[in-house]
This record gives sequence, structure tokens and C-alpha cells, in this order.
Amino acid sequence: MRSIQIAIDGPASSGKSTVAKIIAKNLGYTYLDTGAMYRCATYLALKNKLTKDQVPSLLEELETHPISFSKGDDGSQRVFLGGDDVTLAIRQNDVTNNVSWVSALPEVREELVAQQQRIAATGGIVMDGRDIGTVVLPDADLKIFLIASVEERALRRFKENQEKGIPSDLETLKEEIAARDFKDSNRKVSPLRAADDAITFDTTGVSIDGVVAFISEKANEILDK
Ligand code: C5P
Repeated sequence: MRSIQIAIDGPASSGKSTVAKIIAKNLGYTYLDTGAMYRCATYLALKNKLTKDQVPSLLEELETHPISFSKGDDGSQRVFLGGDDVTLAIRQNDVTNNVSWVSALPEVREELVAQQQRIAATGGIVMDGRDIGTVVLPDADLKIFLIASVEERALRRFKENQEKGIPSDLETLKEEIAARDFKDSNRKVSPLRAADDAITFDTTGVSIDGVVAFISEKANEILDK
């Protein structure tokens, strides 16, 4: 059976990664969390106290500490920078609140998009992010744009943080999510937007299973053709 490329984009905490992981597993495809890659770049920038005027140093850091993914003992995805497991570190508030300026740097995007496209070239893939359908995989077979109300997305992130032991406050999360969406949608390079041929799906009040079923049906329609 042929394998396809599925691009899932959308604003912060719209449920992209949760459903993308399940769909990739069901299809036996690679799952690529591109947000984790921008978070890794941000982690390196913060760790080395780099500013937006020190892009060559940041690119050097990315080269000497390559981003990689592997499966942990419990089956969950682990993120590595060189030999260091940064899975939890890249979800901390300092990274979350700085990722928008790092991901707006054209040179960083150019490097990470090239890495993403190389990974996609290896076979069936489900990739989630902000610019997958528009820039990274413009010819993806299926493009989904997930949206949800800020209230619901903040609540999801709040619960996720609780599970990971990351302290957070619901009202602050709402403000941070709205601010990150604004920055991601209004940056010059590859802003967050639905591709013209993407299917937009509002997940407010929809269960994870409901979203997975919707996307799986669309994927099966393509695979059955
Ligand atoms: O998906 P996640 O919320 O982890 O993404 C973190 C940040 O990475 C986003 O807010 C955005 O600034 C950046 N990002 C991006 N392009 C992508 C994926 C993420 O600019 N394809």
C-alpha cells in the first residue's frame, strides 16, 4: 500500500500532537513534532544566553547538538539535543514563553524546515506544526488545520502541565496562549495560517477520539482511492 503525507497545523494546544501521534501509530507512520524542534532551538538559545542578533552562534549550537527523537521505555517519545534528553526541559515555561522569537528567525526556520523535509522523504509521515501544509510539505496528501477556543486550549495545557508537574495558572495560560498565537500568526516568515487546500476542524468540545476518527476517515478516503 502506498504511504501518504499528513500535515496537521493549528494554534497552540489545539490538540495537534495528541491526535497526530495516534494517527501515525495507527498507520505505522513516522510522527514528527516540529514544535519540539523549535523548542530545542529556543532551549539552546536560552542556555547559551543568545539573543536574536547572534543567529550564527545559535546555528552552530544546533549543528553541534543535533535534534533527535527516540522511544522511551514506556513507549513515549523522547527528545534529544546531542546526547542530552531535553524532553521535559523544552516544555518548561521559559522555553514556551521565548519560542516565538526564536521561531521567527528566518535562518533557524530554514535549517529546521530542511531537517523536517529530509525526515519526510523517508516514507509515510504525520507532521504537526504551524507551517507544515503551507511551507514544509506543500504537496501533502492531506492537510488538516485544527482550531479550538482559547478557554479550552488553556484548560488542556493546564491539565497537561499538571501531569508533567509543571506549575501553571489557568488565567496566565490563557494570556500566554493568546499572545503566542498572535506572534505566530503575525510574524513575517511562515506565519501560522491554514493552507488554501487544508480542511479546518474546530475541536472545541470534541473528544480526542472524535478528532482522530475525523482525520482517519479523510486519510482512508485518500488511501482507498
Ligand atoms: O507546537 P508547539 O506549541 O510545541 O510549538 C511551539 C512553538 O514553535 C510555536 O508557538 C511556534 O512559535 C513554533 N513553531 C513554528 N513552526 C512549526 C511548529 C512550531 O513556528 N512548524
